[in-house]
Amino acid sequence: PSELSLCSSSSRDTNMSIMPEEPSKVMLLGASGVGKRALIHEFMDAEMMRHYFQSSGEYDDADRSVSILLDGQESTMEFVDILSFNLQVDEFVTADQIDAYVVVYSVEDRKSFETAIDRLYEIRQEEARNIALILVANKTDLVRTRVVLEEEGRSAAKTYDCKYIEVSAAIDHRIDELLVGILKQIRLFKERNAK
Ligand code: GDP
Repeated sequence: PSELSLCSSSSRDTNMSIMPEEPSKVMLLGASGVGKRALIHEFMDAEMMRHYFQSSGEYDDADRSVSILLDGQESTMEFVDILSFNLQVDEFVTADQIDAYVVVYSVEDRKSFETAIDRLYEIRQEEARNIALILVANKTDLVRTRVVLEEEGRSAAKTYDCKYIEVSAAIDHRIDELLVGILKQIRLFKERNAK
């Protein structure tokens, strides 16, 4: 099992055998209302706690990056969505500097699942390089109104060769696993592409 901990920026002052690498850029895609902002908020919350306890408690709202110590190596991920690119429509954008795409849909919204599949297709079509790609089924807390089944999500992920995870931003379910999953994918593809 991998060792996970979230670090505050102050931990970078301590003696580390390996220097932190460049932050990885993670782009969240998906229909409006699926919970992209809620997810980013949950990612930040995890780190905000550390900031609060370990440093002065200052927190920069514009900073959407989180540092994670995983398997003895610290990595920083910066989360961006379409709004960061000043685009009005939630369409796929080719951006060279992106290290991973996280495609989100809501399990209670079939149209958002179809939009997610369109995004997966476009990414696999347009991205020349192999890139970390994660399909996220959000809002699993809404059990009674769920319409997209787990098998459907898994099957789409298999078709487009990406990771699949079911989460709930609302009840903070499997958010840590998602963060670790994204980072593992980024590392895997960086390693592969370096060869
Ligand atoms: P975005 O348009 O993709 O950024 O979606 P938002 O993050 O703004 O979320 C849209 C709505 O869905 C908001 O009212 C959120 O509170 C709600 N929401 C987000 N995640 C969840 C979740 O996991 N469960 C439930 N029940 N609601 C959620």
